[in-house]
Amino acid sequence: MATIWIDGEWHDKSTGKISVYDHGLLYGDGIFEGIRAYGGKIFRLGEHLDRLYDSAKAIALEIPYPKAELGKVIEQAVAKSGLADAYIRPIITRGIGDLGIDARKCPRATTIVIVDTIMVWAPERYDQGLSLVTAGTPIPHREALSPRVKSLKYLAHVRAKMEGNVAGADEVLMLDTAGWVCEGSGQNLFVVKGRTVRTPPASAGILLGVTRKAVMELALEADLEIREELLNRYDVYTADEAFLTGTASELAPIRMVDGRTIGSGKAGPITKDLHARFHALIRK
Ligand code: PMP
Repeated sequence: MATIWIDGEWHDKSTGKISVYDHGLLYGDGIFEGIRAYGGKIFRLGEHLDRLYDSAKAIALEIPYPKAELGKVIEQAVAKSGLADAYIRPIITRGIGDLGIDARKCPRATTIVIVDTIMVWAPERYDQGLSLVTAGTPIPHREALSPRVKSLKYLAHVRAKMEGNVAGADEVLMLDTAGWVCEGSGQNLFVVKGRTVRTPPASAGILLGVTRKAVMELALEADLEIREELLNRYDVYTADEAFLTGTASELAPIRMVDGRTIGSGKAGPITKDLHARFHALIRK
């Protein structure tokens, strides 16, 4: 059952509410995480907590709980939900202030942990592969707000995803303003050519995915060459295989981008192998 914790109080879906004066709502002033539990075990909680606290640092937001304490709350929330396979959404907002933008008027951050489930695409998409289109909405410039901050300001990604919906695609490919390939609306991208697996580097303006890192480790174990380098759409169109990774999305093959069939148009052997290794890892 959906279980929600807000600053020490337990709620269900109907009672879990925050103030309309919370700057998370008024200004998107806050950060979040997306974490999964498999069989009651939380996948890479430490890495998600590290990213959460780094996001907080980057926007000068003080999380009112030490990392270990918040980790315990998350574990408790999963246990309380009774969900063996769960999706966990910690959110920290600037807290309650006045109607102005000044963060100094918010004396204490609001901390929320939601435990529920999530499904991004229908299960058959993981066999058939996804169709993507390039979004016209670019990734926000890294000096406006670093894409490495998992902030509540997701409107560019939300709008990009809408463009995909209008085009009848499953997902979108987001570029930066110079045209370099960055990520999906909530996933990192990998392309495969021969036995080389490539993914855009941190400097490309991406969220450094926890799943991305796990898959890079698995690629090394599988004796694949792994390279973090700038990619453009040519590299994607001409790849033998391509796939997306993310906590909510897991590992999903791509069959088409902008009307170009990727490789055979089905999940290729390397994608299938990494998919199997990923599912073994999360259930370990
Ligand atoms: N990029 C964006 C924009 C995301 O929202 C996400 C999902 N958190 C990812 C990439 C993938 O990151 P992770 O594997 O840590 O979920």
